[in-house]
Amino acid sequence: MNETAKKMPTDTTPFDDLGLTVACREPLSHHSWLGVGGEAKYFCEPVDIEALARLVVRAQECQIPLRVIGGGSNILIPTRGFSGVVVRLSAPAFCAIEVNRPSVVAGAGAKLVHVVSAAVQAGLSGLETLVGIPGTIGGALVGNAGGHGGDIGERVREVTVMLPNGKTEVRQGGQLAFQSQWSNLDDATIIGCRLELDEENAESLTKRMQRLWIVERSEQPSGTRTVALMFKDPHGTSAESLIAQSGAKDLHVGGATVYAAHANYVVASVSCSSDDVHALIEMVRSKVRDRLGVELTPQIEVW
Ligand SMILES: Cc1cc2nc3c(=O)[nH]c(=O)nc-3n(C[C@H](O)[C@H](O)[C@H](O)COP(=O)(O)OP(=O)(O)OC[C@H]3O[C@@H](n4cnc5c(N)ncnc54)[C@H](O)[C@@H]3O)c2cc1C
Repeated sequence: MNETAKKMPTDTTPFDDLGLTVACREPLSHHSWLGVGGEAKYFCEPVDIEALARLVVRAQECQIPLRVIGGGSNILIPTRGFSGVVVRLSAPAFCAIEVNRPSVVAGAGAKLVHVVSAAVQAGLSGLETLVGIPGTIGGALVGNAGGHGGDIGERVREVTVMLPNGKTEVRQGGQLAFQSQWSNLDDATIIGCRLELDEENAESLTKRMQRLWIVERSEQPSGTRTVALMFKDPHGTSAESLIAQSGAKDLHVGGATVYAAHANYVVASVSCSSDDVHALIEMVRSKVRDRLGVELTPQIEVW
């Protein structure tokens, strides 16, 4: 190392005395499905619950905004990035899946697909309708992920969250509310949950899941990972059919294109920017509004 390099200032952060590894200026495009967007000022993957508590308490004390990123399949990161700390619960301590008949207990960082598979292999039904939905348990709980006649909220019995003061809280019964593509779990860091399932023959359940998986795959764009769902389905109809009827399925802005075969998806090319995606979503929304008089609600969350 030469002298100049030795004297280069290193990044200091308000978390330096906490024994955590906190990265500065982390490109969030690496953590989102669309692969677009700016940087997080600070980024941390705590190793366990105590480390997470130290992080959230310090963020609260220093009034640093904190967000959790799951699989990044339902977020649009703006070009300016996020001027706070982004937490990713990727450590094994947050990804455990335990079958405790008839329940499955899952960490918030566990991939939804792994939880669905574990339940089906154990002969526990109720989650198989979620097969093929990308992301983590945490993201699925926040947005009440669902499809093909079921959503995760129907099976949730307990959710453990961490509050901004670092204390954990178990929420159950009337403290939990789930509606279509919505839950009341957007006010804390979700750590894990308990899902109550039904006993069923593992073989027939596996066959049903495989059939559902084929249907789900046929409804998603193939051959690309840089995609996102644009809008929630309005009651009684689908966003996809409204977009097609309005003539918006041929639209594109810069590197962002409506995926014509499944018109509720936006696809980002290599040259795409976050602003392109945002502008395209607004363009599709106004076309549907002008042509059909329907106001679509975005599914993807803009940070
Ligand atoms: C190809 C494709 C197909 C899809 N199909 C479906 C579908 O059939 N049905 C459906 O409902 N959705 C679908 N989606 C949307 C998306 O996959 C779901 O919304 C998914 O549940 C998001 O999970 P995630 O972990 O990626 O969340 P992210 O996108 O990372 O985050 C979403 C929100 O959850 C918050 N969050 C994540 N983890 C935590 C946590 N531990 N604590 C607190 N907050 C947290 C984030 O801050 C953010 O607000 C699809 C998306 C794609 C790209």
